[in-house]
Amino acid sequence: MRKSKQDVRCSFCGRDKSEALLLIAGISGHICEVCTEQAGEIVDDELLDGTGGFHEMKVDGELPALPTDIRPKDIKAHLDQYVIGQGDAKKILSVAVYNHYKRLQNEDKLGDVEIEKSNLLFVGRTGTGKTLLAKTIAKFLNVPFAIVDATVFTESGYVGEDVESILARLLQVCDFDIRAAERGIVYIDEIDKIARKGDNPSITRDVSGEGVQQGMLKMLEGTEVNVPPNGGRKHPEQKMIKVNTKNILFICGGAFDGIEKVISKRLNHQVIGFKSEDKEQVDRENLLQYIQHQDIKTFGLIPELIGRLPVLTYLEPLDVETLKSILTKPKNALLKQYRKMFELEDIRLSLTEDAIEFMAEKALEYKLGARGLRSLCEAILTDAMYELPGDTSVSTFTVDREYAERKVSKSKIAYLKKAA
Ligand code: ADP
Repeated sequence: MRKSKQDVRCSFCGRDKSEALLLIAGISGHICEVCTEQAGEIVDDELLDGTGGFHEMKVDGELPALPTDIRPKDIKAHLDQYVIGQGDAKKILSVAVYNHYKRLQNEDKLGDVEIEKSNLLFVGRTGTGKTLLAKTIAKFLNVPFAIVDATVFTESGYVGEDVESILARLLQVCDFDIRAAERGIVYIDEIDKIARKGDNPSITRDVSGEGVQQGMLKMLEGTEVNVPPNGGRKHPEQKMIKVNTKNILFICGGAFDGIEKVISKRLNHQVIGFKSEDKEQVDRENLLQYIQHQDIKTFGLIPELIGRLPVLTYLEPLDVETLKSILTKPKNALLKQYRKMFELEDIRLSLTEDAIEFMAEKALEYKLGARGLRSLCEAILTDAMYELPGDTSVSTFTVDREYAERKVSKSKIAYLKKAA
C-alpha cells in the first residue's frame, strides 16, 4: 500500500513532514535536516578528529630518537644557557629527566625492577622560571610539550574541562602522533589552586578540588587514558584516542603562597632540642630551600597526589642582580631581542648600566618576577620603535635611567601600580 503524504517521516528520528523543514527521500526512507546535520558531525569526528585512519597512519611514522649520549651535567649546561640562577632546580630537574629517559630507553633491561616515574613538583613564585625550565628541557629532548592550567579542570559534570583534556593538548602539539605524545612532557601550572577546601578530609568533600586531584592520580602514575581529541568536554559521538601515560613526564608547578611560613613553623619545631648553633645554620632569607613534601599538604593537595610527584624542588625568588642578568645574559635575553630589532633598522640600541638596574628594581617592585621585564621593555622602547624606523639621521639610540624612568612613569604599568 502506498503511504499517504502525511505518513512520510524521518526514518532516523521519526519526525513527520509537518515537523521537519526538509525531508530528503532515499530508496527506502527519508532523513530530516536535523539528522543530516548530526550525521555530518559524526562523520567529521570519525574521519578527521578521532583515531580513524589518519592518526593510525601517524603512529606508523618514524619516532624521533631521544639523545642517547647525554648526561645530567649536559642537561644542566643546556638549561644554563636559557635560565638564570635556579641552580638547585636545574640540578634536580636534570637528574629526574635523565633517569626518566634512561628508564625509557632501557625498558627491556629492567627485569623485575620497576623504576617509578620521576614526576616533578616545582614550588616558586610567579615569573621565576618554572614554565621556562619545563619548556627548555622539552625542546632540548625534542619531545612534545604542553602547558595546561590546573584551574580549568573540574570533575565530570561541572563547568570546565575534563582532566583528560590535558593529554588532548599534548596530542595536538605533536599532530596526533600518539607514540611521540606518549613520551612527551606536560607542565601543569597552578597546581596549588586546586586545593580541597577545608582541612579535614572526612568532613569536607569538595568535588571541584578533590575530584580533580583524584582524576589526575592514575594519569600521573601511568595508565591508558581515553582522550577526547578536541579536548573540552566529552560528548557521546566523539571518538576517543587511547593514550598510555606510563612514559609521559608530568611537571607540576605552583606558587604556594605563604609556604615559607609553613616551612618556618616546621623548622622551628624541628630545631627545638638541638643545640643553638644548629638553629643559626638555618638560612631564614631563603626558607624555600628546606621545602619538604609534608609542607605541601597544608595547601589542600591530597597525599596520594603529592606522592605521585616524588621529585620536589623550589625556585628562588628573583633579586635585582638575577633580574639584570635575565635581561642581558640568556641566549635569547629580552635585551638581545630588542637590540636585534633595532639593528634591523640599522640602529644600535644601547642601555646604560643604571637603566638596566632601574628596570630590574621596578620588576621587583611589581612582584611579577621576570614576567614584568617584558612590559617594562615595551613601556621604555615603544616610542622609539614607533619614531625611529625610516629616520636615517639616527644610528645609535641610548636609553639611560632618566629616559627609562620618564617612559615608565607615563606608561600603563605605572597606572596599574598606582591602582594596586
Ligand atoms: P613561572 O615561574 O610563573 O612559570 P615563567 O617560566 O613563565 O614563570 O617565566 C616568565 C618569563 O620570565 C619567561 O618567559 C622568561 O623569559 C622569564 N624568566 C623567568 N625566570 C627566569 C630565569 N630564571 N631565567 C631567565 N628567564 C626567566
